[in-house]
Amino acid sequence: MSRPYYIAGNWKMHKTRAEAAELAGALASRLADGKHKYLVAPSFTSLETVGAILRGTNILLGAQDCAPAEQGAHTGEVSVLQLKDLGVQAVILGHSERRHIYKEDDALINRKVKLALKHGFEVILCVGELLEEREAGRAEAVCETQTIQGLEGVSAADIPKITIAYEPVWAIGTGKTATPEDADAIHAFVRKVIARLYGTDAAEKIIIQYGGSVKSENAAQLMAKEHIDGALVGGAALTAETFVPIAKFA
Ligand code: PEP
Repeated sequence: MSRPYYIAGNWKMHKTRAEAAELAGALASRLADGKHKYLVAPSFTSLETVGAILRGTNILLGAQDCAPAEQGAHTGEVSVLQLKDLGVQAVILGHSERRHIYKEDDALINRKVKLALKHGFEVILCVGELLEEREAGRAEAVCETQTIQGLEGVSAADIPKITIAYEPVWAIGTGKTATPEDADAIHAFVRKVIARLYGTDAAEKIIIQYGGSVKSENAAQLMAKEHIDGALVGGAALTAETFVPIAKFA
């Protein structure tokens, strides 16, 4: 089964609108002949600016999070209705920084996943173990729980809108990358979990990105693996010079 490659850039809490516009413009022109599926997720404050630049291009506009409710007394949060209004097409949920810095648990992430799907967004659901969990031999168990609980109540009809990003927490922003073999083993395992939940056809089709210090130097090796279908990129997504070679990996 050949799945499309999907390369996403998470700009995290970086860039003013002018800086974001400059990067979006560079990516729009340099990825115009790119052969894969692409997304960038700027800060909420730059979504409108970047969305205007990406409209009509082959790069999707993503948000880095959303609130678990449509509207109401949620100071500081951003609603799916507001994201839709800005033309956002996909939402990253359960990123390790949301899980570990802001203490989001699987139940909260699951509410966000279901709400985003209800409003027609694609979702990148991030899963991944801490270093101590890996060292304790629990990497698979952690990813299994985060996948099952993150997708609780999601119908088979909505699974094509889900991408899983396997991001071992110890590899994010640290310069340490999982070996292609270790990453592929977890991807294969998560695919089996999806098969158990939604059947083998859904499991064969679901895109599973790897995230954690992906760079131009390791992108091709990672993506050569059977179960690695793309990348969720943080640090290297912040300049066109570092992101374009990943997005156009050979
Ligand atoms: C991320 O934040 O999703 C990520 C993978 O970051 P980095 O590429 O910087 O490790």
